[in-house]
Amino acid sequence: MPRIQQLPPSVITKIAAGEVIERPASVVKELLENSVDAGSSRIDIDIEQGGVELIRVVDNGCGILADDLPLAFASHATSKLSTAEDLFRVHTLGFRGEALASIGGVAQVTLQSRPAEQDCGAELNCHGGELAPVRVWNGDSGTRIEVRHLFFNTPVRRKFLRTTATETGHVCEVFTRLALAQPALHLTLRHNGKEVYEVTPPADLLSRIGLFFGAEVRDRLHVVEMEAGPAKLRGYVADPACERGNAKLQYLFVNGRWVRDRSLGHALQEAYRGLLMTGRYAVAFLFVELPPDQVDVNIHPTKAEVRFRDGQAIYHLVLTAIRDRLRRENLTARLQLPLGSGQSMASGQWRVASTRPEVGSGQWAGSSAEKSQEHLGPSTADGSREGPSGGMERSEAAPWALSAPPPPGPVLPLTAPDTRPLPTASSLPSAHCPLPTTKAIQLYDAYLVLETPEGMLVIDRHALHERILFEQLKKRMRSGSLETQRLLVPEPVDLPADQAARTLEHQEALAELGLGVEDFGGGTVLVTTYPAVLGNRPPQAILRAVVDYLVSKDRLPNREQLLHDLLSLMACHAAVRAGDRLTAEEIAALVDQRDLAKDTHHCPHGRPASLLFSRHELDRQFRRL
Ligand code: ADP
Ligand code: MG
Repeated sequence: MPRIQQLPPSVITKIAAGEVIERPASVVKELLENSVDAGSSRIDIDIEQGGVELIRVVDNGCGILADDLPLAFASHATSKLSTAEDLFRVHTLGFRGEALASIGGVAQVTLQSRPAEQDCGAELNCHGGELAPVRVWNGDSGTRIEVRHLFFNTPVRRKFLRTTATETGHVCEVFTRLALAQPALHLTLRHNGKEVYEVTPPADLLSRIGLFFGAEVRDRLHVVEMEAGPAKLRGYVADPACERGNAKLQYLFVNGRWVRDRSLGHALQEAYRGLLMTGRYAVAFLFVELPPDQVDVNIHPTKAEVRFRDGQAIYHLVLTAIRDRLRRENLTARLQLPLGSGQSMASGQWRVASTRPEVGSGQWAGSSAEKSQEHLGPSTADGSREGPSGGMERSEAAPWALSAPPPPGPVLPLTAPDTRPLPTASSLPSAHCPLPTTKAIQLYDAYLVLETPEGMLVIDRHALHERILFEQLKKRMRSGSLETQRLLVPEPVDLPADQAARTLEHQEALAELGLGVEDFGGGTVLVTTYPAVLGNRPPQAILRAVVDYLVSKDRLPNREQLLHDLLSLMACHAAVRAGDRLTAEEIAALVDQRDLAKDTHHCPHGRPASLLFSRHELDRQFRRL
């Protein structure tokens, strides 16, 4: 039976390496961080076979003194910290003095370096943790490090490596993060002798984003910039039309370091709430800067996570900066067709592009806050959008708002009942009513097509109506003026016992929405009141929809999310359905409301509510330009 024994230091090094050095990309990350910390302005990276055979990083940084070379490979040896307190003022990317020791333990490493002020440099080999004698080396000033045969002495780890393409992909990702974080750096990456990337300064972030992610992303970005206390946020967020199926294009940097952060990822998604469908992710490049003592970088072996001293403040900063920015933007999706051959059109290569791309400036400075404010100008000018004394309320009701008794014909409660006077069409700013709304054409009893100064606008009636109702309901709920209708006879709804219990747990939140529920015992729930906006939809059906929602959640969302989801559910139920034919008056009211409500470009579930086929695009397609 084997005995327990003290591991030799070379083995300990390998075990430690297991945590930090997982794959070639981890080596590249550590070496690049060292080059950046050394103040380099240029870094050249060569890899072979995805980095498994060779990783070479050459920089023009400060170099390492010959006498210090062996120390560079020693575990817990670093030039970046000296005391424990220094851990709370880390301003370099590395600080643990572990990386070179770990890499040296699992590969064959040659480290060559010459500080600029030294006539002669030195070289040292470290093979699987074994150091060779230091030798003279006469190379350029800076540091050159070659890592060969990664995991040569740990076959199990080597077996876990993926295909060359996958490993190269990981290296490219590390490269991308650095290039985005440090636009002043000149960086090159070659794989098997072929250039993969060369990024040169002077570069602004936008052009780097364009290089890595293409014009398709670059041209749909909006600048965000905001400060809160000692923290600063700057960066770009993409138009919702640029959404993705995963969060990979959500880049977050804290003090120049790429990090993952669930909480800030959540803040970002939260800022896009109502603009993205479930399971879709925003694209963003965010940079948080704050004093080093406000962030702990020493919590994760690969330094990929940090802990903020005041996490809530940073969460709030990210959420408000992005949400406010998106609110100021006209997010109506634009259709673009490839020009030319009928064949490419037949292949269905339509794409939805952003409106108002904010390209060209390429600078963090000159955030378009003021400019965007102007964008809201026309509608705020006459106070009809958000007048301090309930201007919004006045403008909410449409000529055909549901009031008791319901009007004959299709009953569409476009707005919650409201008897206050309405603004006349002529009181609306002309920019918003450029043309008589009768010009709207109804298509398939589902869409409206409208002529606008910008182009041909196609509206999804249901999605738009849903958004309008949602915004009105929300506003009224917040001001406590949500109208409810009391049922003369409470309506009993039979549910499985657990569903009844779930529902009653949320009695209070539901009451806030105007949906009164009471326990009748035995799995029966009584509906006593319901939101008046739901007019003539059967209360029983509303409650069942709410219950379906509640039981579909494994973990209940927070209160704000719950109210949001339930309001959008109600708005959805109350909104005009495909197949309902609208009268000219109803169409006119719907279109007018579009200009008055917020975020009418998307329904509350994040589906687009309108698509713009711009005048320019029409002219282009018909070769009039
Ligand atoms: P850390 O970066 O945490 O200090 P490393 O093991 O990565 O630890 O590096 C050990 C030390 O070697 C560094 O503190 C630094 O002094 C030196 N070093 C490593 N790479 C370079 C480089 N490219 N240029 C200059 N010095 C370097
Ligand atoms: Mg390091």
